[in-house]
Amino acid sequence: MSAARVDRLARVRRAMAASGVDALLLSLGADLPWLTGYQAMPLERLTMLVLPVDDDATLVVPGLEAPRVDHDPALFALRPWSELEDPVAIVAGLVGQRASLAISDRAWATFVLALQEALPASRWTRASAVTSPLRAVKDAEEVHALAAASAAADRVAAQLLAGDIALIGRREKDVSLDISRRLLAEGHQEVNFAIVGSGPNSASPHHEPGPRVIGAGEAVVCDFGGTMDDYCSDITRTVFTGPPPEQFVELYGVLQTAQVAGVRAGKVGVPCESVDAAARQVIAEAGYGDAFIHRTGHGIGLEEHEDPYMVAGNTAVLAPGHAYSVEPGIYLAGRYGARIEDIVVATNEGPWALNEVDHSLVVLEV
Ligand code: ZN
Ligand code: ZN
Ligand code: ZN
Repeated sequence: MSAARVDRLARVRRAMAASGVDALLLSLGADLPWLTGYQAMPLERLTMLVLPVDDDATLVVPGLEAPRVDHDPALFALRPWSELEDPVAIVAGLVGQRASLAISDRAWATFVLALQEALPASRWTRASAVTSPLRAVKDAEEVHALAAASAAADRVAAQLLAGDIALIGRREKDVSLDISRRLLAEGHQEVNFAIVGSGPNSASPHHEPGPRVIGAGEAVVCDFGGTMDDYCSDITRTVFTGPPPEQFVELYGVLQTAQVAGVRAGKVGVPCESVDAAARQVIAEAGYGDAFIHRTGHGIGLEEHEDPYMVAGNTAVLAPGHAYSVEPGIYLAGRYGARIEDIVVATNEGPWALNEVDHSLVVLEV
């Protein structure tokens, strides 16, 4: 991984120079592990990589966290600070006279404000302005990790579609725990979410699985994902417990066509918004336009949601290595809803859907 990280560091320096950033300050968030392999703890104690455009990088880290740092001197120097030192002063000292600073989007406000006070002449911008376009393009190793995570999520989805995960008579939150346990059994290091929305709850895209007992004759939307080898999975499949009403079958057919259209639209060189438009057009033409209440997709990598976003207005162009979800949904409030989601990687040979498990409407036997 180190060779890949040395290359990332060089690309970040070039992007900093191109956008006139004198120093990059990385704290919480995925930029730091992407660049160094080290993830800052969300603590009241400051962790910050100071990366000047014209000098070596230094990781300022609480002394008690230093043993957790897998220190690669080719990437950065290590500066542990003791309980009696002021880490803001240490960072300010490393920044010196550099005035144009980019700081982690997720850095605590308490440190941002303290640094702004310690460096009154500086100008501030978001680190993502530098890192996001670079992180969005996955290298071969990252695509490999995403594919492995998706394959593991697929194996759990296959268990759901095969009826191996009991639904009827169980509470949503118990099914959610069951799915989580299976993601771990399939190799995930962490479960990030396991949405189970049944009956009318299936019409709420980010439903929090609760005490509702799943019945027969209901739509059940299952959207789950986690982290494997530091990269994220994210998949949605919708099943029906027993024979579905005719309108649901029709709605699901529209959705499936829309999802395929969204996947196929993901050609290198087209704007991200055209992926959204392709899926949305199918749904709108079938008369369900108002029932598709979110964007079509989000980038995925070290974070579940990151650039690039498949949404109207995003004219950024798809490049080989962009990884993102295609997840249209149709939601009829108070009745039922459905969503189908795959992770897709843009390649010169066309869109590569990492999730392969069955997309058709699966009716579970009662
Ligand atoms: Zn979502
Ligand atoms: Zn999802
Ligand atoms: Zn998603």
